Amino acid sequence: MSNYNNNFKNNVYTILELDYGKTIKEASKIELYNAVSKAARKTIKQDWSLDEKGKKVCYLSAEFLIGRLVYNNLLNLGLFNQFSELASENGLDIRIFEDIEDAALGNGGLGRLAACFLDSAATVNVTLNGYGIRYRYGLFEQYFENGFQMETADDWQKAGDPWSVRKEEERVRIDFKNQSVYAVPYDTPVIGYGATKINTLRLWQSEPLETFNFKLFNDQKYDKAVKEKNDAEAITNVLYPNDDTDAGKKLRLKQQYFFSSASLQDIVKRYKKTYGTDFSHFSSQYAIQLNDTHPVVSIPELIRIFIEEEGMSFAKALRIARETFAYTNHTVMSEALEKWNVNLFKAVIPNVYKYVVMIQRQLVKELTALGIDKKEMIQYNIIDNNLIHMARLAIYASHSTNGVAKIHTEILKNDALHEWYEIYPERFNNKTNGITQRRWLALANMELSGFITDMIGNSWITNLDKLKELLKYQDDKEVLKQFDSIKIIKKKQLADYIKEKDGIDINPEFIFDIQVKRLHEYKRQLLNAFSILDIYFGLKEGRIKEFNKTAFIFGAKAAPGYFRAKGIIKFINEIAKMIDNDDEVNDKLKVVFISNYNVSYAEKIMPAADVSEQISTAGTEASGTGNMKFMLNGAVTLGTFDGANVEIVEQAGEENNYIFGARVEDIEKIKETYNPKKIYESNDRIKRVVDTLIDGTFDDEGTGMFKELYTSLIEGASWHKADHYYLLEDLIPYIDAKLRVNKDYSNTYEFRRKCFINMANAGTFSSDRTIREYAEDIWKVN
Ligand SMILES: *Cc1c(COP(=O)(O)O)cnc(C)c1O
Repeated sequence: MSNYNNNFKNNVYTILELDYGKTIKEASKIELYNAVSKAARKTIKQDWSLDEKGKKVCYLSAEFLIGRLVYNNLLNLGLFNQFSELASENGLDIRIFEDIEDAALGNGGLGRLAACFLDSAATVNVTLNGYGIRYRYGLFEQYFENGFQMETADDWQKAGDPWSVRKEEERVRIDFKNQSVYAVPYDTPVIGYGATKINTLRLWQSEPLETFNFKLFNDQKYDKAVKEKNDAEAITNVLYPNDDTDAGKKLRLKQQYFFSSASLQDIVKRYKKTYGTDFSHFSSQYAIQLNDTHPVVSIPELIRIFIEEEGMSFAKALRIARETFAYTNHTVMSEALEKWNVNLFKAVIPNVYKYVVMIQRQLVKELTALGIDKKEMIQYNIIDNNLIHMARLAIYASHSTNGVAKIHTEILKNDALHEWYEIYPERFNNKTNGITQRRWLALANMELSGFITDMIGNSWITNLDKLKELLKYQDDKEVLKQFDSIKIIKKKQLADYIKEKDGIDINPEFIFDIQVKRLHEYKRQLLNAFSILDIYFGLKEGRIKEFNKTAFIFGAKAAPGYFRAKGIIKFINEIAKMIDNDDEVNDKLKVVFISNYNVSYAEKIMPAADVSEQISTAGTEASGTGNMKFMLNGAVTLGTFDGANVEIVEQAGEENNYIFGARVEDIEKIKETYNPKKIYESNDRIKRVVDTLIDGTFDDEGTGMFKELYTSLIEGASWHKADHYYLLEDLIPYIDAKLRVNKDYSNTYEFRRKCFINMANAGTFSSDRTIREYAEDIWKVN
């Protein structure tokens, strides 16, 4: 630990005085935030850099969903107690920074995984630096108007960005066909727990080549300069919502090349500081992990740099690239596997296209040597039908392709990427995702953390497998009673927070049944909505007699251009309204759609859940990490046999969770003959809930949203066949499982025991474990 710790509090006072001329009493919240951040930063060594000795891992990701840094950094620096003292000495609430905006530079799980990896790598002593984009605006902020999603820009730097340092002198130039810009790095220290290691998150910002003194210009020159500045800044202006498939394709490709090229230039420059132009050590000095296909253009870019700037041969450049790069696949859904139109690609980065063509030619040679004929070859072609297949490029020109949960990797090997697995089986491997227990338990649930530490000590903070030691208390009534009382505290806190943020009252005595995640058809929030409607009708009719009061809580953002997802949000809000207005049921049923779900909201939600909803169609959710956050905080999973749910029940026991519905192999079987219309027509309960979309029960204010949802389920619409995600197939088994959870909740002791066993078995889902596996198997470090 650093020697400066003792000065932290004094430093806060000094900085307030020097920077703002204020005392702590006079300072605004934002001033205090900046002073606390700066004082905390002063406690780490100031010359942290990207040039550590030994092998360095570069984690390239278009998204880093970091959330709020200040509390996490105080925790990892061991300054949280001093901060608490500072607050209490001055009559301040430690939650004072909760209205500082999250750094939401990502959409969901993929970006949050990158953020958890940063925390874990720094903690387990792996040199890993994150490279990405410093978006001016992060993921939009969401609010509801009449139950419809509305969006506003996320100005995440409103209170400043006191954790990052601009490194002007390390900027690099990026050349597109008709545009050149600077990529300017902003470095944020990534502080491992105990501050034993400082890694870097380097985010690139796009800026014009020349900064003009606008006043000196005549009108014409002025207009030109303004346009150049705007065009340059446009590249890193916004984060793309990842379901917005058509939005600004060209700009999106520019973003990808921008941060890939900047990162690669940076890496090569650093390498040359030590080794000059001898590149024989490159792949033993650097491992580059590509988080999904967004940074895959890095591969031809590195080859371009090697050939054009270092005079290397193509064969050698490709060999080094292959030794250096590794690729993580995050999805099996074909519409999400990235492909670039050749014309578009050539219009943006013709210089790079050349090298894609060379890689394609080499692929053909290699496949021919393997005895693969012309017809078979089509499925491998990187350039095919005027499209560039980024996943194929990544698999071919890297040494490792990993899935993110066991079942996902098996699907890649046996189905989605089977042809590649056949020729390169040694390249495929699994790395089940994880989450950092520092943020998702130590920080988000201090009550539970304290309780655990009292029982088994605090070594779980850096070794989550230790939670297993709790299992010896699983039948201890006193322990489970305390565990239950902590859950009640967290539910009360969440209820208060929801009241404050969303103005909605929730009774904390209700079961908290929660589904929070991006809104997408495959995640099946609509299935959840239908199940609630069936329960509602069941209660009204007296079909359901015994029922424990339940609050169904949703949180999700829909991509702004994703009409159907927005329809689902409106539908759930309509259900919430109907139930609220129905005095026959509103004392036992409640539906809440919280607004603007983000990392900071998640930190309140995860500890308060009794039931974690993980109900994606089997075979669609690669892993999920929300499921792990819930488990770690002691919730049972109500879910399908999909993604990491499979491993959750493997760890905690199927008897302690609620698994339902069609499995991957079942869906394979019914696929060809699936007839949702028949199911709908032959089951009155299913018909009744689906018909609420069209029978006037709810009003979508003439948008046609509900009718469109109905059509997509019963008739099929746009590019998908009817009920593409098998909602009607799974609906009745889902409701049955949901009612089983509800019934089991009657026995508080037994129910909390299940929750407790889940928590105690969550150790393997630490991202520390995931990072160690990457380090050992893929990066070959430590
Ligand atoms: C963990 C997390 C996710 C991922 O949730 P899944 O349920 O795995 O899709 C998305 N958004 C936020 C804000 C998160 O914290």
